[in-house]
Amino acid sequence: MGLSPIRLPVREWRRLRRRAYAAQQIDVSEICGLFAVRANRQIFLVFVANESDRDGHFEFSWQQFWLARKQIRRLHGRYIGIFHSHPIATAAPGPMDIRKSRINSYQIIYDVCGTTARLWRVVKRGGKKAAAEIPLLIERTSGVWSLSGPEQARQLETPNCPWF
Ligand SMILES: [Zn+2]
Repeated sequence: MGLSPIRLPVREWRRLRRRAYAAQQIDVSEICGLFAVRANRQIFLVFVANESDRDGHFEFSWQQFWLARKQIRRLHGRYIGIFHSHPIATAAPGPMDIRKSRINSYQIIYDVCGTTARLWRVVKRGGKKAAAEIPLLIERTSGVWSLSGPEQARQLETPNCPWF
């Protein structure tokens, strides 16, 4: 993916935040989709329907995947990976997220409670799959970019997660 971090512009950041929060509020479900970059390394998101009926889980069909890939091509983007939200967990991939992912694939995870997103790449480490964090620049306020990462510690008392 090159050396400079890819960037999540404020418009897409707000869409992600709004939709992930709405899904959490309705039935603690996850949102999901594909993400791509334009030549300027800015991300755009293509949401797909979460076809899983289990809480804290997401899945979508290959048909949805290929339709979204087509849409990305139409918008002159380059496909990078998939994204999903964690309604009540941090923005790190769980064991299932890692198991379902291919080596060298990328994923963005959005943490609804902590209002943050992080970018991961699944790598092979000691013969096992593991997640390595990749820097992601997020524009949370117009014109202000900040690097995502563990330093943005999750707040346990936020209005998004009143049950904590
Ligand atoms: Zn997950």
